[in-house]
Amino acid sequence: MNFANIAEMFRVLESTEARLEMTSIISNFLKTVPKNELRDVIYIIQGKLHPDFYQIEFGMADKLVLKTISLTSGVPYEIVENLWIKIGDPGEVAEKLIKEKKQITLFSEALSIARVVKNLKLIETCEGKESQILKTKYLASMLHDSGPVEAKYLCRIVSGKMRTGASIMTILDAITITFATKEERAEIERAFNITCDSGLIAETLARSGMRGIHAIHVKVGNPIKVMLAERLSSLSEIIDKMDGTCAIEYKYDGIRAQVHIGKNYVRIFSRRLEDLTNNFPDITKSLTNQFKGEEVIIEGECVAVNSETGQIQSFQEIVRRRRKYNITETVKDIPVKIFIFDMLYLNGTDLTSEPYPERRKLIEKWFNITGIIQISCMKIVHSMEEADKFFNNAIKERCEGIIAKSIGNESVYRAGSRGFLWIKYKKDYCGNFVDSFDLVVVGAFYGMGKRAGKYGALLMASYDSESGRYGTVCKLGTGFDDSFLDNMPSILNKYKSNEKPHLLDTKITPDIWFQPGIILEVVGAEVTISPNHAAGMNIIKEGSGIGIRFPRFTGRIRYDKEPEQSTTVSEMIQMYNVQFTNNSPST
Ligand code: ATP
Repeated sequence: MNFANIAEMFRVLESTEARLEMTSIISNFLKTVPKNELRDVIYIIQGKLHPDFYQIEFGMADKLVLKTISLTSGVPYEIVENLWIKIGDPGEVAEKLIKEKKQITLFSEALSIARVVKNLKLIETCEGKESQILKTKYLASMLHDSGPVEAKYLCRIVSGKMRTGASIMTILDAITITFATKEERAEIERAFNITCDSGLIAETLARSGMRGIHAIHVKVGNPIKVMLAERLSSLSEIIDKMDGTCAIEYKYDGIRAQVHIGKNYVRIFSRRLEDLTNNFPDITKSLTNQFKGEEVIIEGECVAVNSETGQIQSFQEIVRRRRKYNITETVKDIPVKIFIFDMLYLNGTDLTSEPYPERRKLIEKWFNITGIIQISCMKIVHSMEEADKFFNNAIKERCEGIIAKSIGNESVYRAGSRGFLWIKYKKDYCGNFVDSFDLVVVGAFYGMGKRAGKYGALLMASYDSESGRYGTVCKLGTGFDDSFLDNMPSILNKYKSNEKPHLLDTKITPDIWFQPGIILEVVGAEVTISPNHAAGMNIIKEGSGIGIRFPRFTGRIRYDKEPEQSTTVSEMIQMYNVQFTNNSPST
């Protein structure tokens, strides 16, 4: 199959914002893809060559792409760069110049998908002194045989700016309607949630149908989408919701780690599937030594501890472990512990369908719990009073709060889903603020007065998992310290966009747009009905959306979350509904 076919599909896809239409455009295209190319095609639709948990990048900055465009089109670099400054997107620059300079692109060989995959693999594996020259060469060879539309998407892929607007949920919808039925969507999604590999799912369905999907199991090396907690505004509601009895665990404030141990294999994945193995060599080593079996997948929270007292330190300490460089020093400076709270797989057995009490027992049985390897503190409670006492102890021990966990037969591990089998309750809920929200930066406003020359405020959005779109909820201008104000442009630069993000609904136009990428933790006094904001439009009141009153940045950038993992519109609506009943700290 030729790359021109997929490029044309991208062009049509970009012309719509409607999820159903996007699904049908992708599905119609998938029907034409040969089975042996399907897997690559699914990754390419997402601007990649591999599933999300391979952290390999093409390593081509915009300027290197521009240099290659200049070489291929014969247009002097300065002109190419000036055009890029105006347009902002190397893909559109390539499209425009290759269209104008058709005579220079001699079509010697049609650009097949197989050739694109081969060249992109060469680009991602280039290393050393010559790497920039080689990357230019491989891209130039593809651009040489590209028409304008192919060039546009090739340049976007290598510069990491694919952004067709199709979310992974839309792609799964398209895979479903192409190879299965809508009724089978949930099973397909479960297979995706336990493998995090959309290419594998599509290829399996195309080759072996639902039989193949049923044969997909949890496996060491394939990260599992994490299970998430719902929230309620009081401990008494939580106990009621859990039918009077449940387990409650300390909610540690650290970095979630999913650890996969196999024969000569150990890897730590973050909740957004980054590889954290090198950041936690101490945990990796101790876990491997203290595990008594062959293969296991566990989850736990890594927290920083005081080297002398062993006391839990704040989240700000542990994030210093996420560095890419000088890890050896950081490991010495910041001692850590992991508090294991779940086991998802053991010695060939998928445990995700086992109830929580069974999974919990296995942690103690198969790990030597000592030193930096700990198990989360847990108690079975039968009353609000017991829960309240446990919650206070959690706070004294510097935890964020508690997580109540169902102990019934239905208490399975629901990969990739947020539900009431786990309910969190944090100390934030007791103060003046309703809770913290994790919101996506989608725009910035230039500052004035003391903030002149910097960004003065940010436009923040939340994710609507129903529609797959983002909607604004507040303008955020407080809680920024000097260092954050100075660093904001460099943190956000990668996401700068010349136009409104494709998937954003907003009534406000900021000075600068950003593609969803950076998530900030924000506290607010109240979730309100807002005529100015677009999230949750018409759900509570006709013509209005929802907003956050008195939003303030907590200082925490949620690098561990994807934009789609930000606080969702339905969570915010739930907060709007419950906040009126939350008048006392814990009851
Ligand atoms: P938050 O910002 O409140 O941590 P979240 O969206 O990251 O929320 P939730 O599912 O809402 O995730 O809350 C559970 C999070 O709490 C987990 O992602 C995990 O990192 C952390 N955590 C800490 N202690 C525990 C525990 N004992 N059991 C489960 N999760 C825990």
